Amino acid sequence: MGDADRSAIVFDLDDTLYAERAFAFSGFDAVGQVFGDRLGASDLAERMRVLFDTEHRHRVFNVVLDELGVDDPMPIVREMIDAFRKHKPNIRLHVDADRALTRFRPTHKLGIITDGYAVTQHGKVQALGLRSRVDAVIVTDDWGRDYWKPHPRAFEEMERLLCATGTRCSYIADNPSKDFVAPNALGWQTVMIERDDRVHADVNVANGGEPQRRIATLDEL
Ligand SMILES: [Mg+2]
Repeated sequence: MGDADRSAIVFDLDDTLYAERAFAFSGFDAVGQVFGDRLGASDLAERMRVLFDTEHRHRVFNVVLDELGVDDPMPIVREMIDAFRKHKPNIRLHVDADRALTRFRPTHKLGIITDGYAVTQHGKVQALGLRSRVDAVIVTDDWGRDYWKPHPRAFEEMERLLCATGTRCSYIADNPSKDFVAPNALGWQTVMIERDDRVHADVNVANGGEPQRRIATLDEL
């Protein structure tokens, strides 16, 4: 099959190829190692894991410092966020993601488009060994926050990188509040993966962001 004949499958990263929850827990371990001794709290990571499954998910560091009675917590919160974002993550691909990347590699062009802080997302790509398994990786934050999904730039750039027009591209992702707006508009096929443990399970579907198909595992692709 010639290069121009191969259609393209582009994946989101978080909660599509690996569990975002596992990244958070890996980050809590890293933060716990740095700050546990300093704060005299050996169970810091465990406490943060518990908070992740409460309404405090988005302010775990603030709450844990509050529980410890830390005065003036904001400088430490900022240090914790920095350590969390920059840590070398202990994560692995979902088994069906690993299978899909292997299965489609010989017959399709493969890409990844991911949002999130650039240093964090590049760390995940590195930890998962993805560079050698796909043809192109776009971390939207390399261009700045304005270019995070639903901005279309990453999808237009991916078409160029993979020499594919929209009708020959698919985007597989998990978050209908932002993931499918741009690829739908560009004529891509859009597929939502609905994993049981996904972080963004209760989001609203964006205008124009309804996926064309829903699957429970990448084995259905
Ligand atoms: Mg995602």
